[in-house]
Amino acid sequence: MIQEKGTISIHTENIFPIIKKFLYSDHEIFLRELVSNAVDATQKIKRLASLGQYNGELGDLTIEVSVDETAKTITVKDRGLGMTAEEIKKYINQIAFSGATEFMEKFKEAKDANEIIGRFGLGFYSSFMVADKVEIQTLSYQEGAEPARWVCDGSTEFEITEANRTERGTEVTLYLNSESEEFLNRWKIQEILDKYAKFLPVPIKFGTKPESVEDGVDEEGKTKYNSIEVDNIINNTNPIWTKAPSELNDEDYLNFYKELYPFSEDPLFWIHLNVDYPFNLTGVLYFPKLKNDFEIQRNKIKLFSRQVFITDEVKDIVPEFLMLLHGVIDSPDIPLNVSRSFLQADSSVKKINSYISRKVADKLAELYKKDRKAYENKWNDIGLFVKYGMISEEKFAEKAKEFALLTNTANEHFTLDEYKEKVKPLQTDKSETAVYLYTQDAQRQDTYVQAAQKRSYDVLVMNSPIDNHFMQHLETKLEKVSFKRVDADVLDKLIEKEDTQAHALTEDDSKKVKEIFEKAINNPAMKVEIESLHPEEMPVHISMQEWMRRMKDMAKLGGNGMNFYGSLPDSYKVAINGNHKLVNKILEAEGEKQTDIAKQAFDLALLSQGMLTGADLTAFVERSVKLI
Ligand code: ADP
Repeated sequence: MIQEKGTISIHTENIFPIIKKFLYSDHEIFLRELVSNAVDATQKIKRLASLGQYNGELGDLTIEVSVDETAKTITVKDRGLGMTAEEIKKYINQIAFSGATEFMEKFKEAKDANEIIGRFGLGFYSSFMVADKVEIQTLSYQEGAEPARWVCDGSTEFEITEANRTERGTEVTLYLNSESEEFLNRWKIQEILDKYAKFLPVPIKFGTKPESVEDGVDEEGKTKYNSIEVDNIINNTNPIWTKAPSELNDEDYLNFYKELYPFSEDPLFWIHLNVDYPFNLTGVLYFPKLKNDFEIQRNKIKLFSRQVFITDEVKDIVPEFLMLLHGVIDSPDIPLNVSRSFLQADSSVKKINSYISRKVADKLAELYKKDRKAYENKWNDIGLFVKYGMISEEKFAEKAKEFALLTNTANEHFTLDEYKEKVKPLQTDKSETAVYLYTQDAQRQDTYVQAAQKRSYDVLVMNSPIDNHFMQHLETKLEKVSFKRVDADVLDKLIEKEDTQAHALTEDDSKKVKEIFEKAINNPAMKVEIESLHPEEMPVHISMQEWMRRMKDMAKLGGNGMNFYGSLPDSYKVAINGNHKLVNKILEAEGEKQTDIAKQAFDLALLSQGMLTGADLTAFVERSVKLI
């Protein structure tokens, strides 16, 4: 018997077509909305009971999600506080937005369903993205309340009729439309629940495995899903981020990590986040062992709002340099239905961002102070975060300069201050600049590393993809410090001292030697210069200027405004050691022989730089054979 018919008051006839047609992305979130409404209703009855405003039995509060393949329905059933017919009219029939005009204007720009649903409080109505007809059966907790039934077929017409429900709570049934039959697939529903409901605070039961369904198999024949057990509880109602750190031990954190990322290696360490002012936020962030493919490791942080999963796109909430972290963040201050544009503009999001950055800095400082050795052992993995953080965030850099480390070829670690002290006595040049020598590849640059070490210079290892930027950063932050790759020039030039003496050659001989080499090398990209070096140094030294090589390296990594450097032709300096015996030998030799020796010496220099390849290498080998 129909009690009442009416029109949903939204001041436009067109709301449902809009919901259906324009909210085509993310259809699956209808289930998140229904289940979170059920959770809210359950939390509310618990609260009423604890306040003494409800004195009945709470009973089993488990929420049930079920799929009926034959009837083509999905049902979400709770034992929450229920609604009276009056409340249905108030909460369901009057869609909460100020006016149709505003809505019509906004939806044109909306990019995803979240944006509209969130802005206009249409959570329940997202059901109409997938259903032709929606039915609510409900019984309020209030004494003497009558059960009520509400049905709506997706037009603006609704019906409220008497109902026969005897149990407190609400049951929402969706009669799926023909385009949405994918949601009748239990595995699909399981997947959606896993994504959104896995950590909801009220137990949720789902699924009886029907005879007709085999374990899911994807196109390649791999098993995609495991068997669904009969009526199992699908969620962990008490995930660790809701607990106090004092209640937890390392194993709890590691187990939770495994629950989130089943096939990952153990993380290095973690940070438990917990603030309630000026915004609410809890969570656990893990530092993973880094793999080479950063992209795969990005976007692993899951964002929740009161334990409802929202998104794993946390770009604006988490500082860019921490995007490789894993874990969860839960903040009720972030509305359930977030959209990108909202996040960017929101002020609590900005605060959250700087809070996370600060927490990470504090944690790193603590680890460093507590056990420096252990911290050094992890430096290989955390170094990348720290360096990236220092480059991209002033405030983080300020803190991190206490615990950022430099590593030398002997695998010793130094803080920035320690290193400066270490190299100051020997590696300060005549302009009072401390020259930090480094190698990007200690194996390949071994000749140069050894030459530097022979003079008791220290050589750093700078081989991570962001080290070029990091050095650039340090050079601007630290006073009178300059980084130079060990092979960027001859040592006497890299660390130029006051007392450089002239070479033994006369001006005439110098000119002659230069011409001989230019002829032998025959390449305008190689700029020959005669220099006064230690007689023990190599006779020929090829280098690309530090700044030029660094710019080119950075251009390879990509970055704004760097293309210009990438397009510059390679150009090298060829330093001839005017004090080397070989130079005299060349001058004494005659004709062809002069060019041959010069060419040989040049090729040896190329060889030690790993630059001798192809036909040049073959010619070098043949010439060497002839010479010996
Ligand atoms: P929101 O949840 O953002 O308020 P919805 O459109 O999802 O918006 O729901 C509107 C209102 O309907 C809720 O605020 C609540 O009062 C009521 N409601 C929805 N689902 C339930 C339920 N399962 N039990 C009790 N009340 C419900």
